[in-house]
Amino acid sequence: MRLTSENRVALISVSGDPAIEIGREEAGGQNVYVRQVGLALAQQGWQVDMFTRQTRADQASIVQHTPNCRTIRLKAGAIEFISRDCVFPHLPEFVQALLDFQKAEGHRYSLVHTNYWLSSWVGMQLKKHQPLVQVHTYHSLGAIKYQAIDQIPPIAAKRLTVEKTCLETADRIVATSPQEQEHMRTYVSTKGKIDMIPCGTDTDRFGKIDRAAARTALGFDSDEKIVLYVGRFDPRKGIETLVRAIGQSCQRSQVKLVIGGGSTPGQVDGIERDRIESIVAELGLQENTIFPGQLGDPKLPLYYAAADVCVVPSHYEPFGLVAIEAMASRTPVVASDVGGLQFTVIPEVTGLLAPPKDDLAFAAAIDRILLNPDWRNQLGQTARQRVEIAFSWQSVAIRLSQLYTKLLDQSVQQAA
Ligand code: UDP
Repeated sequence: MRLTSENRVALISVSGDPAIEIGREEAGGQNVYVRQVGLALAQQGWQVDMFTRQTRADQASIVQHTPNCRTIRLKAGAIEFISRDCVFPHLPEFVQALLDFQKAEGHRYSLVHTNYWLSSWVGMQLKKHQPLVQVHTYHSLGAIKYQAIDQIPPIAAKRLTVEKTCLETADRIVATSPQEQEHMRTYVSTKGKIDMIPCGTDTDRFGKIDRAAARTALGFDSDEKIVLYVGRFDPRKGIETLVRAIGQSCQRSQVKLVIGGGSTPGQVDGIERDRIESIVAELGLQENTIFPGQLGDPKLPLYYAAADVCVVPSHYEPFGLVAIEAMASRTPVVASDVGGLQFTVIPEVTGLLAPPKDDLAFAAAIDRILLNPDWRNQLGQTARQRVEIAFSWQSVAIRLSQLYTKLLDQSVQQAA
């Protein structure tokens, strides 16, 4: 593909900076998705600018990842971390900053791929200023999320309206799993155009080291039964279910429970980590449990490879990158029977599914895998094959690239 202004695209992720450390303060799958999609699209020949909100004064306003791919941080509201539920009032400033950036650079994007509902609003506003193709990925649907939480935030009504308008008016919605697509149709709107293109993972980063070598590198014994959680500390992630499951496991005395992910004391994730630690103490599992904190390179691939089983006990998950990262590392997954996890994890083939919040069912599933190392290995091998076939970032970028090209061609024809 030749580099022209037509293949200049903007990925907008107001609340998920693609250039920051992952695994804490609301930084998770969306950040990884935007960054990896951006990098992979650049390899396909697109000129990719990824726009996000600046949250710290010491952050560079432009991060050049590769010659064709950069993160651009715009000022919208105070330069500090603002929870997603409180960002909306600052979006007009974000839109203006993006318009100013385009003007200063002397070009206009013809396609934006927006991520999460906040960015969808930005995309819809930009469309009022210039001809624009808008592609949108939700990452989370308010209509589902609000069913699963006790305290509905004041922004909820606005979010639900914006999500519906976006589904009905965007040039294309990208659902990351058939389950998410069905949820959009059932709970958001029957109007609008949806394509299903899954998330991906880095099959070179994950799966390059075997279990024994990873355990040696991390200082684990070869006969320990390692049960791994990776992710943010958020009640929606269901870590409590996992801890209670280990409390009931018939392998309990041999289990090493690793709960990986960053948190900041006093913040929402720090409060959830304290709560999880108190459940660990209540069940007398302190000796069996470690909290290694935020995991990046080189440790994250080692933990995935060292584990006997990776558990994803979420109450709701539109896709769930952790599941495919573990699978790429040949580690079977025990996951909640919800959302995208029903798509990525094939029960009895690449892992097992259990009803969300059901600690007894999770304990039974984890025990089945821990008690049968041959079957564990077999599940892990098939899991790796499934990821190689269905979930590489390169294949995701090829499909997105084809979609962008088709939509841009259509918009040119319509304008003619
Ligand atoms: N992650 C990480 N380090 C951590 C915890 C999480 O790099 O300490 C990454 C993890 O590898 C995955 C992402 O954060 O790529 C979480 O994505 P997922 O879709 O599973 O959950 P989300 O955060 O979107 O709810």
